[in-house]
Amino acid sequence: ADFKALGLHDNLIKCLTDSKYLKPTKIQRMAIPKLISLGHQRTRTNPFPPQPRDMFMQAQTGSGKTMAFTLPILNMLLSSKGKINRQSGIYALILTPTRELAQQIYSFIEDSLCKKACNWIVPGIVIGGEKKKAEKARLRKGINILVATPGRLVDHIENTQSLDLSKIRYLILDEGDRLMELGFEESISTIIARLQKDYRDNDQVLGPLADVLPFKRVSVLCSATLKG
Ligand code: AMP
Repeated sequence: ADFKALGLHDNLIKCLTDSKYLKPTKIQRMAIPKLISLGHQRTRTNPFPPQPRDMFMQAQTGSGKTMAFTLPILNMLLSSKGKINRQSGIYALILTPTRELAQQIYSFIEDSLCKKACNWIVPGIVIGGEKKKAEKARLRKGINILVATPGRLVDHIENTQSLDLSKIRYLILDEGDRLMELGFEESISTIIARLQKDYRDNDQVLGPLADVLPFKRVSVLCSATLKG
């Protein structure tokens, strides 16, 4: 099986081929169609199921988990018939336990995916240790895919009333076990509480993505190990 068989958009296939990613790994074969198809389980009698959809993705370090969750996110944004631009909202949130991991994921999305397949989709990063003012300005300018460490995101949530999380459709907790070990449980609860408040305050959140991902949220917990 190749990437095309997994249901990915042509732009993504082309950029994967150009980067010599020819065959999906096992976790990619398992997770990508699943994460994409979660968007197509709407029925006439239940057009907008209210429950978040959850997935637990476990595979060893180095097995390709990053692509397994980033490709469906990009695929959702590329498949949207409505117009996506940097100001239209944050559609995916990826939380990581460390700044380094956040930086790696952000760079992958920016350099290997967005720049090649969809340069109008804007990834962004907020992590501890960076200048808060610059991050605030970037958030204000608009970000579509946000990669963050939990503590710093909570900081922005508490200090920026205008930060709108109501459009988030994919919530990824990467290295979930380490997020817990490092004591981010409370920050993550704060973030999820704010997400739910923003969903409640904004009923029209489905917007241009209603056809692609009719659920308000798909949550994915990633981990290399079973503990935690
Ligand atoms: P990860 O487990 O997400 O940290 O990925 C580990 C490494 O595997 C990264 O350097 C990726 O570039 C590489 N990788 C991920 N998926 C594939 C694939 N389908 N084919 C070849 N290399 C891959």
